[in-house]
Amino acid sequence: MSNSNNKNNHKKSIAMFSIHADPLAPLGSQQTGGQNFYVRLLVEELSRIGWEVDVFTRLDDQRKKQIVQINKKSRVIRLKGGKIGYISKEELITVLPEIYNNFLSFINFQNSYSLFHGHYWDGGLIALKAHLHFNKPLVTNFHSLGIIRIQTKEKYLMNKNNSSYLTERLNIENEVAKNSSVIISLAKTEKKELQQFYGCPEEKCKVVPGGVDLKRWSRVERSKSRKILNLDQKGFILLYVGRLEWRKGIGTLLSAGNLLKNEIPNLKILIVGGKIFGRQKNLDDYKEYKRLLKKAEQEKVENITKFVGNIPNRRLHFFCSASDIMVIPSYYEPFGLVALEGMASKIPVVASNVGGLMNIIKDAKDGFLFEPRNPLSLKEKVLLIYNSQELRQKLIQNAYEKVKNYSWKSMVKKIDEIYKDLIIKNKNENSPNSAI
Ligand code: UDP
Repeated sequence: MSNSNNKNNHKKSIAMFSIHADPLAPLGSQQTGGQNFYVRLLVEELSRIGWEVDVFTRLDDQRKKQIVQINKKSRVIRLKGGKIGYISKEELITVLPEIYNNFLSFINFQNSYSLFHGHYWDGGLIALKAHLHFNKPLVTNFHSLGIIRIQTKEKYLMNKNNSSYLTERLNIENEVAKNSSVIISLAKTEKKELQQFYGCPEEKCKVVPGGVDLKRWSRVERSKSRKILNLDQKGFILLYVGRLEWRKGIGTLLSAGNLLKNEIPNLKILIVGGKIFGRQKNLDDYKEYKRLLKKAEQEKVENITKFVGNIPNRRLHFFCSASDIMVIPSYYEPFGLVALEGMASKIPVVASNVGGLMNIIKDAKDGFLFEPRNPLSLKEKVLLIYNSQELRQKLIQNAYEKVKNYSWKSMVKKIDEIYKDLIIKNKNENSPNSAI
């Protein structure tokens, strides 16, 4: 594969690496969630203000084209690494050198990008290599930190045996953090963790939260959206939206359902996410779905719980409009785009008191926070909303006011400034006069 056109000869040109998260992939399976969506929105907004972005990702499906234009200025470039198909994170580590070599061949070993921006530890490592090779600034978004994943596992699974994958991931993250010119964290909590566990200097880490497009999430009348989705008009619906993954805490929601079903007539639990149906199903998603089905049976909520699989993002506002409360029961959540989406859709959000969620939601003011992995705590918060229309309206209104401040435009404005500063600094450092 070679870079046939001269597209990169532009000063405002970025090479972005989102290796396991293709920004054009459909969302909602174990491998595709917030990061894919974030990178796509970031690139769209950056292009709007004049940046040319090439997003490099791993080719994971034979049917995908190798180069796809996202818009006039930016494109996705899929590089081969290992077998073309799904590979685990363990395997991903071993194919990163191949992906980096394919990147170098793609650019004919000539760099014309002004800056490298890596996402997650995998994209971070490729961007780091490019940074060291070509001496251009390195920006990193971690999206999730290995150390917090390990701590969460130890806390809740009582599992102190970390796989070699996690150990290696930690080493990579430390290297990437040490060499990054700037790290962009979506939440203050991550910034603190980077300082505490990775020794990042305060000034290296900039907090720039994710955004939400209010128009996309505008409300559709409840009975109409229930009709569209073929949902019971009388049900009191608790909605979960996200990937089917252990750390998302869906089990806690099912346990809370057991505690609530005698208090709330017509209680329903609606679970959106997971590629679990048809021939295209993802095996990891399906395994977690089966585990959750069993859990629903144990909790005697199988008859009131519905798994609908992953839904295209542009249709999710129907699910929000049709539901009574959005529940985000994560054990660990670096940011939580769905919280913003629920708030924009004008449904009350009840989320666990962790990570980015506790930065977004102010308890009892614009949503509720509950103790992670505690169904009783979740039950109490749900009942407070169920029992008071007044409280419900107050939470919705305050949340909507707050969420107006989270726009993709303002997020990208801050990132634009970060890029420009770094590029100028890099130019000055490398100009012939800089040594004088
Ligand atoms: N999402 C979607 N369809 C689904 C499930 C999720 O479009 O079936 C989207 C959801 O709206 C959100 C993103 O996937 O924009 C998930 O991001 P979040 O930060 O909440 O979680 P993450 O995937 O990063 O853990």
